[in-house]
Amino acid sequence: MSTPRDRRRQIVGRYSNRERQCGLCGRLGFLTRTHVPPQCAGNTGSVKRFQLVSDPQNMMESGRERIGGIHFFGLCRACNGLQSKWDPAYCTFAKSLWPFALAGKIVIPSARCEMPSERIQPGAIARGVMVSCFALNPNLRTTFPNLADELHSEVGSIRLPHDTALYIGVARGPQALVTGSISGFHMNQHLANGSPLETMCFAQIFFPPLAWQFASVSLSPLLEKEVWTDVSAWLLRDSKDIENLSGLLPALPFVSHPSFGVDSAAFWSEVFHNDSCFIVKSDDAVLTIRAKLGYQ
Ligand SMILES: [Zn+2]
Repeated sequence: MSTPRDRRRQIVGRYSNRERQCGLCGRLGFLTRTHVPPQCAGNTGSVKRFQLVSDPQNMMESGRERIGGIHFFGLCRACNGLQSKWDPAYCTFAKSLWPFALAGKIVIPSARCEMPSERIQPGAIARGVMVSCFALNPNLRTTFPNLADELHSEVGSIRLPHDTALYIGVARGPQALVTGSISGFHMNQHLANGSPLETMCFAQIFFPPLAWQFASVSLSPLLEKEVWTDVSAWLLRDSKDIENLSGLLPALPFVSHPSFGVDSAAFWSEVFHNDSCFIVKSDDAVLTIRAKLGYQ
């Protein structure tokens, strides 16, 4: 008979002393800790893990707040090593935009921010984000086995599956949110044809100053409305390619997760599977970055 402690250890994304299948290579083994985003991007602060609880209102319940950054146990040691290989490229990019993270709440919604002149490695950054998505969503390997194999074998050019895209924006506000697959929609906003303004992501990473969603194109009209930028083509590039950021992406939209907004949260509804999706939040992501930059 399983105890509550056993059940807790079986929850996807959490530490387990049992062998489990790696989210990227599919091999059975002990899964290791993957930080999403990398710790060098400022991901070292406090985190809370959320879970749906079975009560009449389907309320979310959070675990204890812990220090150590947003992390998951979704990859084997070798695949975690592959993820780490892309960390420096990711962090160079994130740090070049840290001033936008410090802007906090004073930025104007729907505004776009001009990208600085900075040398970045788009192929390496996009590969790191996609490997993170396989750490966040244990079903992704089954859904897109060819993509998993291409990321794992480090092929020179990767084309995302039909009707999927990797989107990017500049994350607004002080909080961070990282999840597996979730469908969400605004209950009070609709498209012209009456269908809800929705998103269907396979994984999402909101960690100031960057926000990423690996999502269904046709089922995510909200991302199009918010003018998220499709950077799927970064995966077609060699991982060693270096580009000037301002030439590659002249500007990005400021975006915020609907659950963070005082007005939008009350009308935002989400659907996900408790056994295969985890939700982790951090309330002090920007405070951590401020501290790293020497601000109080
Ligand atoms: Zn693996």
